Amino acid sequence: MTDSRTLPQPPAGGSPTVLVIGGGAAGNAVTILLRRAGIAVDLIEARPDWNATTGSGITLQGNALRVLRQLGVWERIAASGYPYGSLGVTAPDGTVLFVAEDIQTGGEDLPATLGMQRPQLQRILIDAVRASGARIRLGTTAESLEQDADGVSVRFSDGGAGRYDLVIAADGLGSATRAAIGITEKPEPTGMAIWRIAAPRPASVTRTDLAYGGPAYIAGYTPTSENTLYAYVVEACRDRSAIDPTSYAAEMRRLAQAYGGVWPEITAHITDPKKVNYTWFDRLLVEGSWHRGRVVLVGDAAHCCPPTIAQGAAMSLEDASVLAELLTSGREWDDALFQAYHDRRIPRVRTVVEASVRIGQWQLDGVRDADVAGLIGRTMTFLKERP
Ligand SMILES: Cc1cc2nc3c(=O)[nH]c(=O)nc-3n(C[C@H](O)[C@H](O)[C@H](O)COP(=O)(O)OP(=O)(O)OC[C@H]3O[C@@H](n4cnc5c(N)ncnc54)[C@H](O)[C@@H]3O)c2cc1C
Repeated sequence: MTDSRTLPQPPAGGSPTVLVIGGGAAGNAVTILLRRAGIAVDLIEARPDWNATTGSGITLQGNALRVLRQLGVWERIAASGYPYGSLGVTAPDGTVLFVAEDIQTGGEDLPATLGMQRPQLQRILIDAVRASGARIRLGTTAESLEQDADGVSVRFSDGGAGRYDLVIAADGLGSATRAAIGITEKPEPTGMAIWRIAAPRPASVTRTDLAYGGPAYIAGYTPTSENTLYAYVVEACRDRSAIDPTSYAAEMRRLAQAYGGVWPEITAHITDPKKVNYTWFDRLLVEGSWHRGRVVLVGDAAHCCPPTIAQGAAMSLEDASVLAELLTSGREWDDALFQAYHDRRIPRVRTVVEASVRIGQWQLDGVRDADVAGLIGRTMTFLKERP
């Protein structure tokens, strides 16, 4: 790779060309925003189905919704998701112990929180990327990246090749691009794992409820539409290779059976092992610059955290928004710009990663008097500021 200090400016007065690697929340968002400014964007996505059918649910807080509104998709998100403004904490038998109001991190004109089916969110973003006029290649990865004095040459897995002024690595927590540019930090397991499933929404489920104190660390559910919710059980992580995927439904059902309230109704739908997802929680924060020359990281490629405060996608969307703002500001695309991007993102991302990891660690350590509500409140209040 060329030393970034020797790299040239983007073509003066010319139209730069950008490659976005990965079409998740971060890659889709940055593509839409760059296209809006007239920048040519190629987006490559490893999965032929662009992840349009996978996943159960996601919790989007106001600061994520603020970026989705900037992308022009808020009306569709609002029509598809389930907005709410509080969080319930219950005993394992379903007794509500207290209800906390959520902080409106996206401002007073957006809901504090919105639950959504993941495939719905992805399909809405895919439609916006397609409408943006970006060139899209599915089932494609970057096999090699070579920087020289004029830009980045990329060879693709489908045999094609391209030449770009900038490559944006939005290829998620296992980012091959991060490794290819010599950033050696990798996600580390936090010690927890989650079982997730989508199910019909019982009428009484109108917000996220989390049960503590049962056999799992957390059992929770979040409404994702008028008709659906996603339910999850968090436990200590186990050797993934030792869990037979055909037993996923039985495993999740076994854990969920310890919980009361609406859980028996939800548990009745945990029947198909293919619809149950088992995932470890990871932590990553790339400490130094998020770029090498003209290859820059966004989203989980640069940072990830356990979803204990449900902020991972929000941080990824914010990365895209801030990077696009800088790239379309008329400034030179040089080290100073990419450093400014890093400097703007790191305080927010660090706050989220550290708070998310700490909340999980308190549970792993059995700390009973931990100030979870205080930490969440301080973090969310900080996130109300614009990124
Ligand atoms: C269990 C769990 C629950 C979560 N819940 C929430 C929540 O409720 N709220 C929230 O805000 N966040 C949540 N998150 C975090 C959130 O899912 C991530 O932060 C977010 O998806 C990151 O977006 P991204 O675009 O950076 O990466 P990804 O969504 O991972 O997208 C990366 C994309 O790149 C593609 N790709 C990978 N490698 C290549 C390659 N070599 N070439 C081309 N394409 C490639 C992938 O197929 C994928 O489409 C959760 C995470 C986990 C693990």
